[in-house]
Amino acid sequence: MIRVTVWNENWHEKKDEKVIRIYPNGIHGAIAEGIRSEELSIRTATQDQEEHGLTEEVLDNTDVLIWWGHMRHHLVSDEIVERVRKRVWKGMGLIVLHSGHFSKVFKSLMGTSCDLRWRENDEKERIWVVDPAHPIAEGLGSYFELEREETYGEHFDIPAPDELVFVSWFEGGDVFRSGCTYHRGQGKIFYFRPGHEEFPTYYNKDVLRVISNAVHWAAAGRGATPKYGKSQALEAVSAKIS
Ligand code: ZN
Repeated sequence: MIRVTVWNENWHEKKDEKVIRIYPNGIHGAIAEGIRSEELSIRTATQDQEEHGLTEEVLDNTDVLIWWGHMRHHLVSDEIVERVRKRVWKGMGLIVLHSGHFSKVFKSLMGTSCDLRWRENDEKERIWVVDPAHPIAEGLGSYFELEREETYGEHFDIPAPDELVFVSWFEGGDVFRSGCTYHRGQGKIFYFRPGHEEFPTYYNKDVLRVISNAVHWAAAGRGATPKYGKSQALEAVSAKIS
């Protein structure tokens, strides 16, 4: 079993009628439900919980952490950011979604501003698979489309990705590196662009397939290898990061 924690800021879903209608169980609830399978053991955590729901115990029992945040990045405590970052170094997988590009966790792991261009113009997004052999693209066609999404555009101020899996095109003419992988320490990281809170993006079957594929990719990474267990060498690396 791959142990997954879906983390959400859970702010729009309590304040904004439009978002509440789309995600009555929260974005975390929709993602958890959408990727549910016999191979995954999924829990959710939200920012408003004690220690943002990311206690040492929860992280010790997480192979892959999924992160969605937008308005309240600045209210995530530095202690928890450091805790998550060290867990990634020790081998936990991390999937950062949409506006999570500006989370403290992602920025600190990237080391750049992670800024980008954006506009809310209800444009169609076409997500092109540019690395068809990558496990995160498994089961997809040449591209898939979202009828309406928020637009993100280059320049996206990230380090050059280790692997670029998706590039998005938007009706308005923008392009964006929308599926990027990184390795930090023993952990694997995937950034995936779609998921503005005002659209039902996390019910889209292709989006859910990508997230599910990414969970398997990140869990079977340099760190947690559920099938074989952790190597002694990795245990030794983890022990040194306190
Ligand atoms: Zn957004």
